[in-house]
Amino acid sequence: LRTHVFQVPDADSMRALGRALAAQLGPGDLVVLSGELGAGKTTFTQGLGAGLGVRGDVTSPTFVIARVHPSLVGGPDLVHVDAYRLGGLDELDDLDLDTSLDDAVTVVEWGEGLAEGLSESRLEVAIVRGDAPHDGLDPRRVELTPVGPRWHALSSPALG
Ligand code: ADP
Ligand code: MG
Repeated sequence: LRTHVFQVPDADSMRALGRALAAQLGPGDLVVLSGELGAGKTTFTQGLGAGLGVRGDVTSPTFVIARVHPSLVGGPDLVHVDAYRLGGLDELDDLDLDTSLDDAVTVVEWGEGLAEGLSESRLEVAIVRGDAPHDGLDPRRVELTPVGPRWHALSSPALG
């Protein structure tokens, strides 16, 4: 399973990438976002939320550990987690959320280089700054790395 690499020129393109990926996500999936503060993890998650058709603006979950965005289209809910406030992913099970993680798409903003030790089935999304800002653009590089057999059929989402 290979890493898919995207050059993402601006924030709208980042949302478009999340939206395109959402079409391939289903109940029980775990997406782990890494990247420094301001890399675009929440922006990417906004696109996922749009693609999943969930309620509520996706904002930084900084002041809550996890926020549940219910599906408006009968699909999986989105659980958006700020892992800076979480000791480990096992603590998610203790949060008493309004949805089951088995029925939801869980997205964790995990920060830099902390993906090890997570569930053995996950989609890793690493976001790093690309070229220096130019012409009003502030590009990022996004690497999607599927981990575990669940993702054997993952196809590269089109950036659109
Ligand atoms: P994080 O959640 O990783 O801390 P955010 O998504 O909250 O980051 O913030 C990223 C900021 O950078 C947003 O203000 C977004 O509009 C801006 N931005 C500019 N260019 C890009 C890009 N190419 N990809 C993602 N975000 C971008
Ligand atoms: Mg964020």
